[in-house]
Amino acid sequence: MTKIDSKIPEGQLAEKWSNYKAHQKLVNPANKRRLDIIVVGTGLAGASAAASLGEMGFKVFNFCIQDSPRRAHSIAAQGGINAAKNYQNDGDSVYRLFYDTIKGGDYRAREANVYRLAEVSNAIIDQCVAQGVPFARDYGGTLDNRSFGGAQVSRTFYAKGQTGQQLLLGAYSALSRQVHKGNVKLFTRYEMLDLVVIEGRARGIIARNLVTGEIERFSAHAVVIGTGGYGNAFFLSTNAMGSNGSVAIQCYKKGAYFANPCYAQIHPTCIPVHGDKQSKLTLMSESLRNDGRIWFPKSWKMPKLFRLEPKKQQIFLTKTAISIWNVVIPHSETWFHVM
Ligand SMILES: Cc1cc2nc3c(=O)[nH]c(=O)nc-3n(C[C@H](O)[C@H](O)[C@H](O)COP(=O)(O)OP(=O)(O)OC[C@H]3O[C@@H](n4cnc5c(N)ncnc54)[C@H](O)[C@@H]3O)c2cc1C
Repeated sequence: MTKIDSKIPEGQLAEKWSNYKAHQKLVNPANKRRLDIIVVGTGLAGASAAASLGEMGFKVFNFCIQDSPRRAHSIAAQGGINAAKNYQNDGDSVYRLFYDTIKGGDYRAREANVYRLAEVSNAIIDQCVAQGVPFARDYGGTLDNRSFGGAQVSRTFYAKGQTGQQLLLGAYSALSRQVHKGNVKLFTRYEMLDLVVIEGRARGIIARNLVTGEIERFSAHAVVIGTGGYGNAFFLSTNAMGSNGSVAIQCYKKGAYFANPCYAQIHPTCIPVHGDKQSKLTLMSESLRNDGRIWFPKSWKMPKLFRLEPKKQQIFLTKTAISIWNVVIPHSETWFHVM
């Protein structure tokens, strides 16, 4: 049986990655220029990796299928991004964000990595704000938060119903800065077709130039894959046609491990299909909710819910009334039927 080495650093959970960072081998700045890194993908993952590696001084080659990095599917994300800032003073902490995330992942995620995510979450918000991401603010002018995704505290930073779009524009501007400085070279309209592995290490990619149709090869000292999810495997999903997992399978065929394919996010509340030219569905619940709207059934008789026994119906109605009050009052007075 294959033994997975996830290379999690030694030590106490809360110190693993900080210790590792403090003691890892450094690359001399003069040597960084001699190291080439291929980054495939220009979504929130790929664009931030390419911009950061460029800023660190490596020579980066960044690929995407679309005509512009800004068209990566991250643009569709709506809800928001979590951080343990505890601005609402409701008892949030790095540990609580870590715990909620582990629980939300059905206790299957790697604890050390999730802890690191929670640890750097605050710095990510600061960086996004510095890049100009227009997160929602309260009437006093400070960053606003809301409760999202079953979390027990309000820790979600959001930009109306367009958080992904605004974050991607932030990442894209950081990337453009590195392109301008000559640290990152962009290859738009290229589709990765295969991974090149030499002596067990990823050393390059084979890609098709989608304008000329030619197949080209690129080599580097390391390859970073940030090509998004594969939600498009589902019929009628909110994911773009490009979210098809082709690169994940290319890497899998070359020996990479592939775990938890059941973890694909799909959205049940979408604008219905209106024609055969529509390639994906548009999520509507989060954008409405961000503007202070709430969902409730148009007909009291239709939904399954109202076939519940009266006591359970009562509980539901009370909870709905409380959430209407909590959601609508601080935001807006416009709320209406949807469905
Ligand atoms: C409607 C919606 C709402 C969401 N809401 C939230 C939310 O509220 N909060 C949250 O945290 N997450 C949310 N998500 C999820 C989040 O948006 C994604 O997980 C995230 O944006 C993925 O980023 P990525 O960089 O990994 O991939 P993507 O943004 O999909 O980027 C993939 C990149 O890889 C490139 N690529 C793919 N295949 C190839 C290839 N063969 N060759 C070359 N390049 C290739 C593409 O061109 C693209 O540049 C939402 C998602 C959707 C669809």
